[in-house]
Amino acid sequence: KFNFCAGPAALPEPVLRQAQEELLDWGGRGCSVMEVSHRSPEFTEVAETAEQDLRDLLQVPDNYKVLFLQGGATAQFSAVPWNLFGAGSQVADYIYTGQWAKKAIAEAQRYGRVNIVASSEDRNFTYAPGPDSWRQTGDAAYFHYTPNETIGGVEFDYVPEVSCPLVADMSSNILSQPVPVEKFGVIYAGAQKNIGPSGIAVVIVRDDLLDRAREDIPRSLSWNVAADAGSMDNTPATFAWYLSGLVFKWLKAQGGVGAMEALSARKSSMLYDFIDNSDFYSSPVEPGSRSRMNVPFVLADDRLDGAFLQQSEEAGLLNLKGHRSVGGMRASLYNAVPVEAVQALVDFMADFERRMG
Ligand code: PLP
Repeated sequence: KFNFCAGPAALPEPVLRQAQEELLDWGGRGCSVMEVSHRSPEFTEVAETAEQDLRDLLQVPDNYKVLFLQGGATAQFSAVPWNLFGAGSQVADYIYTGQWAKKAIAEAQRYGRVNIVASSEDRNFTYAPGPDSWRQTGDAAYFHYTPNETIGGVEFDYVPEVSCPLVADMSSNILSQPVPVEKFGVIYAGAQKNIGPSGIAVVIVRDDLLDRAREDIPRSLSWNVAADAGSMDNTPATFAWYLSGLVFKWLKAQGGVGAMEALSARKSSMLYDFIDNSDFYSSPVEPGSRSRMNVPFVLADDRLDGAFLQQSEEAGLLNLKGHRSVGGMRASLYNAVPVEAVQALVDFMADFERRMG
């Protein structure tokens, strides 16, 4: 069966097999990795290797800290204003492109002023606004955007050029292509799409930003505290961290993020080309902003949605239902989804159209 879930998403099968083999007896120690102290030399090695592999994959410069923190991307977009509103400007620039940007904006508004630089609400969040339309603040504490809106299926095909620290919620497209990390102040991502199981978030933060936190920041949200403690100020999500490390090794063996970029281009264009050549299916997203990771599509007759979902599930194509706020279908094509899955989906869609169209 093929899993198109938007998150928690499919994990690479070899990773799951290795985790299964090691579950009860990790490396001959007679216990599970979950039962080992996070401060033990064995787990320290897991943690350090995972960090180094992630640094290698994304070519993270030395002046950035890489943190593995408990909780997901919601904890991190809540942590952003706490960590960056302490040293001067109380205004932040945000691009409003959909549901995840909206939630991040609402959090920042609790602690400072948010300037909406650009919004795609006018066309129901179906595009990524280009820089010509921006209204930037001169002295913003930071500039936040969501490079890939998981729900709307909208992805930026460029990195914003800004004069203040650039903050990106890369939850749903991290590790799917090379990124110029040096252009960012902070990159954060919940793990459960392209990294590992839910329960952990990765934060990549430039070290000169670690002293900008509000004084009343909760300890558990402080990147500075986490960086000083090697992400172990309190008990980390050890199993999720270990599994993320296995995914990083798998990614390296596949050829790294360059290979994932080629693969995601191939998979997503297979599906978009098919949709664009059909009158039965359509994509609501403007062509230049279509996500390589999350592909929403609708049927010309939404009375067939139920039959489509039931029959696709019977055909072994799982979790194609669109987000409740958008409707229709959504196929998420993260790194662990193989080309064969997309081929099977396209074949099913063609067959469904023949029978029902
Ligand atoms: N940001 C984006 C882009 C997401 O896709 C998600 C979850 O799907 C989140 C934030 C929220 O992540 P979490 O559930 O880990 O808090």
